[in-house]
Amino acid sequence: MFKKSIWIGFTFIFLFAVLNNPVVSEHVEEQQENQFRQLYQELPTPNQYRMASGAPGPMYWQQRVDYDMSVEINEENQRLSGEETITYFNNSPNSLSYLWLQLDQNIREKDSLPEMVSSGRISDPMNFMYLQRLHSDFDGGFKIEYVRDENGNDLSYKIVSTMMRVDLPVDLKPESKYSFRIKWWYNINDRQKTHGRSGFIYYEENENYVFAIAQFFPRLAVYNEMEGWQHKQFLGNGEFALPFGHYKVRITVPSDHIVGATGTLKNPEKTLTSDQRIRLDQAEDSTRDTVLIVTEEEAVQNEKERTQDKKTWIFEAENVRDFAFASSRKFIWDAMAVEFGKRTVLAMSYYDKSGNPLWEKYSTKALAHAIRVYSKFTFEYPYPKAISILAASGGGMEYPMIAFNGGIPEADGTYSERLKYSLIGVIIHEFGHNFFPMIVNTDERQWAWMDEGLNTFLEYLSEQEWDREFAQRSGPAYTMVRYMKGEKKYMSPIMTAPDIDMSVGSNAYSKTAAGLNILRETIMGRELFDYAFKEFAQRWKFKHPMPADFFRTMEDASGIDLDWFWRGWFFGTGHVDIAIDDVKWYKINTGEPELAKAIERQEENSLRDKYISNIRNKKDIEKTAVEKDQSLLDFYDKYDLLKVTPQEEKQYKKYLESLTEEEKKILDSGYNYYEVTFSNIGGMVMPLILQFEFKDGSEEVRRIPAEIWRHTNDQVKKVFAFKRELKKVTLDPFLETADVEKRNNKWTVQEQPDYFKLQKFQRRNGKNLMQEFKEMEKQEKKEKK
Ligand SMILES: [Zn+2]
Repeated sequence: MFKKSIWIGFTFIFLFAVLNNPVVSEHVEEQQENQFRQLYQELPTPNQYRMASGAPGPMYWQQRVDYDMSVEINEENQRLSGEETITYFNNSPNSLSYLWLQLDQNIREKDSLPEMVSSGRISDPMNFMYLQRLHSDFDGGFKIEYVRDENGNDLSYKIVSTMMRVDLPVDLKPESKYSFRIKWWYNINDRQKTHGRSGFIYYEENENYVFAIAQFFPRLAVYNEMEGWQHKQFLGNGEFALPFGHYKVRITVPSDHIVGATGTLKNPEKTLTSDQRIRLDQAEDSTRDTVLIVTEEEAVQNEKERTQDKKTWIFEAENVRDFAFASSRKFIWDAMAVEFGKRTVLAMSYYDKSGNPLWEKYSTKALAHAIRVYSKFTFEYPYPKAISILAASGGGMEYPMIAFNGGIPEADGTYSERLKYSLIGVIIHEFGHNFFPMIVNTDERQWAWMDEGLNTFLEYLSEQEWDREFAQRSGPAYTMVRYMKGEKKYMSPIMTAPDIDMSVGSNAYSKTAAGLNILRETIMGRELFDYAFKEFAQRWKFKHPMPADFFRTMEDASGIDLDWFWRGWFFGTGHVDIAIDDVKWYKINTGEPELAKAIERQEENSLRDKYISNIRNKKDIEKTAVEKDQSLLDFYDKYDLLKVTPQEEKQYKKYLESLTEEEKKILDSGYNYYEVTFSNIGGMVMPLILQFEFKDGSEEVRRIPAEIWRHTNDQVKKVFAFKRELKKVTLDPFLETADVEKRNNKWTVQEQPDYFKLQKFQRRNGKNLMQEFKEMEKQEKKEKK
């Protein structure tokens, strides 16, 4: 037994040794040092679906799923029940024997996988919410009543935690479709207790609810050529991957509720009063100010009463990847028209009175602003409306055309500046998700940065256009410094799935947004960046891009090689810390004898004067022998050592004669040369942005692209020539590169220059023996004569 286990041990070690062949690993290490090697291993091989340019290829395909459903909210027991017909269009070249659906509500089942695998700890103090969740006996999760085909025959299905496989009676062939029906219900969670993306908010006053409903129906997972079925379990952080389709949704709620939802309201005459319809028409013409469709007084009156009647609101949406709605009798409702490009869309807000005065002033106007700015940088917002719902105390969550946002003032109507900016910011952000990932339809479960990062970046641009004083949460490079100089073992690269990433907020949101700002402001420039970014958005709107499609498009459309940047910023955890190690000041030693001699003496004296023993001797030796005894003096004590000799004059003349006119000009140019040494301490390379301050008070900025690091990752030198004399150099003066250590970014230049001589450039052609032998022969012949 023992021997056997040793043998197994050896086998393991042997295999390990083979896998870690030193030649291979050395080679890999050596390769890893160069940040500029191309991203071939890291990105998938381009193909006819996704091309090397980053654009969708000629064989690109994607699935489509239509939903036709009826749902009802029972306010008494806070329960949602529904029935849906799903029509699945198989546009893939493959036959499918089963379909995978997502059951997101199952995250709230007792002993659900997400619940079991979430780690926890006790600290002092603990907060109530944590224990509330621990004590909770909430019966969450989808209760599936049936899954049937169109003729009412049961279909077999298997629930795997938050996913469900529905087995098809016959394979679904390419270019064909399949319809089936599901009936379900679930208990709606209390958002204040469970902190979910959706749920209800309960108001003790008058015992009222605001329902913010999402992930409320069994819905199809994405099937594509990259993943097959994307059915990674829903663990909480990784959001959603969803196919596009058409939705028809009938929502039955108490008849005194106001409902806002994805899509267009198809039966306003049955759901709205004639007053409300008139006001809505007015809003459609009002491009400057919001129009109240339900006023605060009306909402306050409405929430005091109660009815047993029900009403069904019908919404339809084309080409959306999801559907969400909000319903309450507490809602105030305002709207305005937003004109942009050749279109007008309706921006609307639904909020209860606790949101005022902030919400009536800012919510719809912030939407209108974001619609215009996002459209400018990507494509015209294609949906007919955009809605902001007050449904939380903070934060937000996004769905097509509708977002649940948080931020309420104090009861007396006062609020902090921070709350104001964070509310406007969150409304812009959650609306912005319409572009990423609702229309540029990315896989959020795997790549949170593709929607959160791109969106946070555009949020920053929108906030800049809203108010110059906008309190920025993330976007600028400098906001990343604290995170990026942190402990590396707690850090993941941006290219990490959100359920694994230990700091999704820093990576997917802030670091990505800061990286895009660095590209735009420092590496590519605004014009090239904006062109390429827009190209990406245009290429992939209403499609499903992957990370490589973004990386490739940004390079392909701009002509800038960015592999080093993706490698360092997206695939790595290295931070930026570039230091100025040294600045050496030089002037030309023209060889002019007086100058040459002065330089020589000065160098000699300066060395002698600096030597510690000599410095001490000046004090300690009262008088030298020569000073005591004049008879020891000779020629060299009296002679002016700086005096130029005829021999030196002659040599200099010869040197000048050997030079061309152009070379003489260079010799007399009077330039100052500064050799600057930079070292890369952090590991991530960056362009060198240098601010030079001169002794005459003038300033100059030079920008050196990051490719200066292409041969070496740790140290590089560069020479700058100026007529003016330099006083100080500052690296990254505008805080563009997220350099985490500012103290090593400044250098004050030495007081005296050093000198260098200039010699003619000599080509090394090797010894010309032919010529030498000819000379020798000539000499010999002469001698013979
Ligand atoms: Zn977001």
